[in-house]
Amino acid sequence: MTRSLDSDSPKAFRSHAPGFWEGQDVTDWSSHTWQLKNRITSLAQLEQHIELSEEERAGVLLSGNKLAMAITPHYLNLIDPKDPGCPIRRQVIPRIEETWDNEEEMDDPCGEDSHMPVPGLVHRYPDRVLFLITDRCAAYCRYCTRSRVVSGVGDQELETQFEAAFKYLEKHTEIRDVLLSGGDPLLFSDSKLEKVLARLYQIPHIEFLRIGTRVPIFLPQRITPQLCQMLQKYHPLFISTHANHPRELTTEVKQGLERLANHGIPVGNQSVLMRGVNDDVDTMKNLVQKLLMCRVKPYYLYQCDLIRGSRHLRAPVSKGIEIIEGLRGHTSGYAIPQFVIDAPGGGGKVPINPEYVIRMDSERVVIRNFEGRVFEYPELAALETKEPAEIH
Ligand code: SF4
Repeated sequence: MTRSLDSDSPKAFRSHAPGFWEGQDVTDWSSHTWQLKNRITSLAQLEQHIELSEEERAGVLLSGNKLAMAITPHYLNLIDPKDPGCPIRRQVIPRIEETWDNEEEMDDPCGEDSHMPVPGLVHRYPDRVLFLITDRCAAYCRYCTRSRVVSGVGDQELETQFEAAFKYLEKHTEIRDVLLSGGDPLLFSDSKLEKVLARLYQIPHIEFLRIGTRVPIFLPQRITPQLCQMLQKYHPLFISTHANHPRELTTEVKQGLERLANHGIPVGNQSVLMRGVNDDVDTMKNLVQKLLMCRVKPYYLYQCDLIRGSRHLRAPVSKGIEIIEGLRGHTSGYAIPQFVIDAPGGGGKVPINPEYVIRMDSERVVIRNFEGRVFEYPELAALETKEPAEIH
């Protein structure tokens, strides 16, 4: 049964096609190869569709030696050309501020390069690794934590050594969880991706595979039945996707996410908190509720990493706490992501929560609920030292 929301609802699913591509053949439009071939990668192409500000024009011209610009036609259609502050536009159109040097910013804010036993393999936590298998994405996010290597135009190159990485994984029996990322692993052809998955699947101590991908959002046409049939051979396999704004969840995106779920692939979402994109409770509430309607669990809300040229996109940490506070108790627990800071320099993810514990001692914990009402919960140790009759 298909259910639909009132079309005026901010949570309604819409298709924005054909949008700027009026008259385009529908079969072409629905093909991921057509979408990739027709990406917007130059100032001239972008200006055919969108009127740019001076800051954006300069940003586009300078992006070619830092992080390339690429926007799929599908994603460009989500931009409101009349709104200079459009939350979709802010994510993919470069701005001059990206070239500014801010003292707190770093090339590698999560300290990945210093935790690579083999080029392309990050081993930062005891039982899991991050395997960077490509440096290409369907479109490039202006706040990308790996902008030092993705898109292939910066100073640094990703030089993943696949054989050495597989050997490391075979030898390290403590590793039970491998996250494939990059870049975007779903840009590999089905057969190329399957070779990597099949090789990992043969390693007996690897219990669990994950793929980090923004393809379901930037290029939903890539989530084909053939891809899903291939992926389902490698269960348990989870996907972490990356949506930041409710408008990104279109009918095409919903269809792709549902297809993954129908093939038994659990999908979680990671959002990045960004100024002017999703730094308010209503936007985030609409996003997380729409994600549940797509059968996706909101997993993490990240404080934006201290990547170079990101100050104009970063929101204060206090805003993230305020958003979580605005969700907890006000919507389904399933809809609430964990807010985290990836500790600068390589400390890993640190959960950040609103304070619900007012006081705690050996006798009791004093807590407040989402409405600010205060409650007490007795501590077990204090109860166990009392005679049963004393307990009321
Ligand atoms: S899709 Fe992921 S890896 Fe690619 S640019 Fe965006 S954040 Fe970076």
